[in-house]
Amino acid sequence: MAIKTFHTPAALIIALSLSVTGLVAQTAFKLAKNKYTPQQDVELGRQAAAEVRKQYPIIEDKRIASYLGSLGDRLVAVAPSSLKQSVYEYSFTPVNMKEINAFALPGGPMFVNRGMFDAAAAEGEVVGVMAHELSHVLLRHGTANATKAENPWLQLGQIAGVVGGAVVGGAAGSAIAQGSQFGLGTLLLRYSRDFEKQADLLGSQIMAKAGYDPRALAHMFETIASEAKSSGGGTPQWMSSHPDPGNRTQYITQEARSLTIATAADESQFEPIKKAFATLPAAKTEAELARGAKSADTEATQSVGTPGQPIPAPSSQYKGISGGKVFQASVPSNWTSLSSNSSIKAVPQNGYGPLNGQTAFTHGVEFGITKTSTRDLREATKSWLTAVSQNNPELRLAGDQQTIRISQRSALSTPLTNPSPLGGREQIGLYTTFLSDGTLFYYFTIAPEKDAQSLQETFQRIGDSIRLTEAR
Ligand SMILES: [Zn+2]
Repeated sequence: MAIKTFHTPAALIIALSLSVTGLVAQTAFKLAKNKYTPQQDVELGRQAAAEVRKQYPIIEDKRIASYLGSLGDRLVAVAPSSLKQSVYEYSFTPVNMKEINAFALPGGPMFVNRGMFDAAAAEGEVVGVMAHELSHVLLRHGTANATKAENPWLQLGQIAGVVGGAVVGGAAGSAIAQGSQFGLGTLLLRYSRDFEKQADLLGSQIMAKAGYDPRALAHMFETIASEAKSSGGGTPQWMSSHPDPGNRTQYITQEARSLTIATAADESQFEPIKKAFATLPAAKTEAELARGAKSADTEATQSVGTPGQPIPAPSSQYKGISGGKVFQASVPSNWTSLSSNSSIKAVPQNGYGPLNGQTAFTHGVEFGITKTSTRDLREATKSWLTAVSQNNPELRLAGDQQTIRISQRSALSTPLTNPSPLGGREQIGLYTTFLSDGTLFYYFTIAPEKDAQSLQETFQRIGDSIRLTEAR
C-alpha cells in the first residue's frame, strides 16, 4: 500500500491505514443507464404507490407506522448524499400481509409486510431488508430496468398501473392475461442478480452507518430461503423479484469487514412492536388478496359486447394493429382492439366482457411480452404457463408442442385447453418466440371448442400477418 513508502510516525500510519482500508475495500457504485429523470422516478412511484394503497391492507396503527418510519428515516439520513436525489419522496408503509416481503417503488415509497417482522429474529434483519430496498431506490434500479426493456408498453403513466397490478399478483385484467401482467410489472420490480448484489452491498454500507451489523441482512436472506424450503416449493415473492446472486452471506460478510459499524442502534422497541402486530386483524395472503381484487376489478373493465351473445362472422377486410416497436399484425376490421398496460387484444363483438362476476375473454387473440430469466424457449413458455395457470388451474396441454416460425423466427406452438366461461371447453393456441433482448413475445388465440373450427382460418391469417419490427 502506498502509505508504507512514507516515513511517518507509527501512530499516524495506523490511523491512515484504517481510513484508507475503509475507502479502498468498500464497494463503490455507479448508476446504471437510465433514460428517465429522477422526477419521473418520483411520479411513477407516486402513482404506483397510490395503486398499492388501494389494493393492499395498509396498517394504520400509529405506533407501528411511526416505528417503521423512524427506521426508514434513520437509513435515509445516513445514505450517501451523492445518491439522494432532492426530489425523492421517501415513505415507509407497513402492510398487513403474511408473506415475508418488502418492496420499494421508484422515487421512494417503500412497503414492508408484517410477515417480514414475524420472521425476523432482530430489528437489524428488518432494517437490512429496508436498506436493501432503499438501495434499489437510490440506484434507480426500477427505471434502469424499464430503460433496458425498451418496451413499447412502458410509457410513463402506463407503468404505474402495471406495477400496481403486478404487486398484487396480477389481479387486474382478464383471467388468461394474467401471465402478461405478471411479466410486465416485474420488468420494474424484478431485479437482475447484478442489481441484487449492488443493493446488498450498498444496503450493508447504509446499515453499518445506521448502527446495525450488515450480517443481519445475510441472516434474513437465509431465513427467507429456509422458509421457502419448508413451505414446500413455490418461489416466495421476495425471491422471485430479488433473485439470489449466489454467495450472498459470503460477500455481505466480506463487505461488513470493510465497514465500521456506528454506535449500535437502540433496538429496544422491536419486541414491543412485534407484540403490537399480534393485536392486529389476521394478516392476509397474496392468494386471498388476488381473489378479492379480481372480483372488485370486473366492474371497471372494458368490454366488447356481452359474452354469451352470438359472435358475428369475422370481416374479410383486415386492419393493421401495432404494438409499439415490437410487432405489427392484421386482424378482421370488425374486431375491436383493446390495449391494456401489458398486452393488446383483438376481439370480435361479444368476445370480451363481464360474465358472472368475472371478466371473460371468450373469443379473439392477445399479443404480449413478458420478461423471462431463461433463453430456452420451452422453459420460458413453461414459466408463462405456470404464471397463467395460477389463475386458470384447469389449463392443460392439448397436444404436443411444435416448432414453428413467427416472422421468420424460430417459435413454439403450444395447444391448450381450458374450461370455457361459457360452458364446455375452449381451445387456446399459444405461440411464443424470443425478442432480441431475451424478452418473450407471445400471442394466443382463444375460442370455445364449438367455434374453434369456424375461426381457424381467421386465426391462421392473423398469425401469418405478424411481423416482429423491433430493431435487432
Ligand atoms: Zn433486491
